[in-house]
Amino acid sequence: MSSSTLLMHFYETLLASLGPSQWWPGETPFEICVGAVLTQNTNWSNVQKAINNLKSRDLLHPEKMASLDDELLAELIRPSGYFRIKARRLKNLLEFLRLECAYHLPDLSSQDLQQLRDKLLQVKGIGPETADSILLYALEKPSFVVDAYTSRILNRHLLVHEDIDYHELRDFFMDRLPRDVALYNEYHALLVRTGKKWCNKNNPRCDGCPLGSYL
Ligand code: SF4
Repeated sequence: MSSSTLLMHFYETLLASLGPSQWWPGETPFEICVGAVLTQNTNWSNVQKAINNLKSRDLLHPEKMASLDDELLAELIRPSGYFRIKARRLKNLLEFLRLECAYHLPDLSSQDLQQLRDKLLQVKGIGPETADSILLYALEKPSFVVDAYTSRILNRHLLVHEDIDYHELRDFFMDRLPRDVALYNEYHALLVRTGKKWCNKNNPRCDGCPLGSYL
């Protein structure tokens, strides 16, 4: 079986077993962008608290957030951890959005994926995983998102080597799957759910894991 076919089998097996993930939780593309920054190095429940702080003050709008004092923004997002660094990163992203699309995010969707990705990666504090999350989940561009769960699962199934880097792993998927936003959206979510539930770092629970039959 080719690796492309195997990847599609993985996807279909996980989807049949786990059901749709309905990612990314966020009411607007901008909220998804904010969540993509806040989720760096923390879990989603902490991100949700920070987002609720912003939402309850009606601050989840680019113009309003851009005019917010840095210290106040940091305080509001404190539950997400590393809050001063993340406040600065949000401001960097807001400046990018001001320059690129005057805060009107749908205008970004018409830009070429690679060019837009390169520009996002120039924003200080926006790494590949954050950039791809913004591209895929906020802007609906076919940019596959990978993470530690992805590399662990694929390595344990002998598809990639242990120390594969982010871009090699992303290319592994994008070279073998159709450029399909819905597929990429769901596939990444399913791998994260599988990693969290079964494919632990030190103690994988292959019995009961939907991918157990592929070992
Ligand atoms: S827990 Fe086992 S079967 Fe499941 S993804 Fe990890 S290595 Fe594969």
